[in-house]
Amino acid sequence: MTATEATNKYFHRAADLLKLDEHQRHFLITPYREIKVECSFIKDDGTLATYVGFRIQHDNSRGPMKGGIRFHPQVDLDEVVALASLMTWKTAVVDLPYGGAKGGIAVDPKALTPGELQRLTRTFVQKIHDVIGPNTDVPAPDMGTNAQVMAWILDEYAKFHGYTTGVVTGKPIELGGSLGRDSATGRGLLYAAECLFADGGRKVSDFTYAIQGFGNVGSWAAKLIHEAGGKVVAVSDVTGATRNPAGLDVPALAEYQAQSKSVSGFPGGTPFPAEELLFQSVDVLVPAALGGVLTEANAGRVRAKYVLEGANHPTDFEADAILTAMGVVMLPDIYANAGGVTVSYFEWVQNVQAYRWDEEHVNRELKKTMAKAFADIKAVKVQHGCDWRTAAFTLAVARVGKAAMMRGL
Ligand code: NAD
Repeated sequence: MTATEATNKYFHRAADLLKLDEHQRHFLITPYREIKVECSFIKDDGTLATYVGFRIQHDNSRGPMKGGIRFHPQVDLDEVVALASLMTWKTAVVDLPYGGAKGGIAVDPKALTPGELQRLTRTFVQKIHDVIGPNTDVPAPDMGTNAQVMAWILDEYAKFHGYTTGVVTGKPIELGGSLGRDSATGRGLLYAAECLFADGGRKVSDFTYAIQGFGNVGSWAAKLIHEAGGKVVAVSDVTGATRNPAGLDVPALAEYQAQSKSVSGFPGGTPFPAEELLFQSVDVLVPAALGGVLTEANAGRVRAKYVLEGANHPTDFEADAILTAMGVVMLPDIYANAGGVTVSYFEWVQNVQAYRWDEEHVNRELKKTMAKAFADIKAVKVQHGCDWRTAAFTLAVARVGKAAMMRGL
């Protein structure tokens, strides 16, 4: 099953509950605009390089479209379409005045020099600048892109349309980025976990955690869960994994990883194969690396009672059914990792107002947004007697559908 087919299956489950007809479903699923462009530039050695870039604008019923730009060798049209639609549902779940989009270039950014990466980014912007903007489509970082790439996008866009900070989020602080954006997805995941556990009369500190990925999302989630008293016992990254049943010293691990670019040799833990991270004997599993890691083939080996989806689409549709049947409680990506886009929204608000919030204000507003969304999802869950993922999708699809109908077709 492709990523788009899987995402649409979740959509149809929600559409069934909402009793949407075939025409409404077709309208809500079909992307607003699909862009595929050639991005060519001269490499440092004088040779010509050509890559394919995508921008999928999925829906703008509730406001400007919003979504990251990913630089990764496996970027393809199907994946970007799926991720763009997930952004539509995600912004609706947390009730941001946005639609959904996603973009990417099928490239390994590590194989390019900084100069080559800059030229590639600028070429991409030259191809899409007419269809992005603060009131149309606002890109942000995703896997393989960062604040520096956003700064280049801002600068290239300015050549065509004038200096407009709100055209991208996830920018460097010096160029209108928001305080708290770096930690936002991990922090949002912590707030989501607090809401979920409080709903069952428990706390973050009651549980043990295994976290797949120690990049932006995974490392911040690990740090903040550790600070909240949760016991992080296993962490993996692309190089390997480390575990300590007594609890990893996460600040020391972060320091070690920053220097060695790996978690696996951490002296405060024992190395183990990264593929085994998902099957550790812990209470809570946090996939925070790649999509599609929990599959029909491996879901049965999961021992956690909770899965908090830090990554986008980490759970295949078939795996979702297996884990649900096993009684595993899953907080879906469209809610659990929505902290990033929420603070991106706060960044855009600050840009539009030309006013800067302090970090406490950002974090306080983020907490409020995650708590409100949790209460909204819970109300739908109770109404329909469904799981958290179905409830989140149902809430989102209802909001987008209503906005689209009210605007008129
Ligand atoms: P990142 O590039 O900063 O980090 C990715 C991490 O995953 C790295 O530690 C890498 O080593 C690890 N990794 C890669 N392959 C792995 C493997 N096979 N096994 C174990 N670890 C592996 O990316 P990120 O920004 O942290 O994003 C992670 C996920 O979260 C992605 O799915 C992304 O779409 C999603 N997400 C990110 C944000 C955000 O604000 N950064 C927001 C929402 C969702």
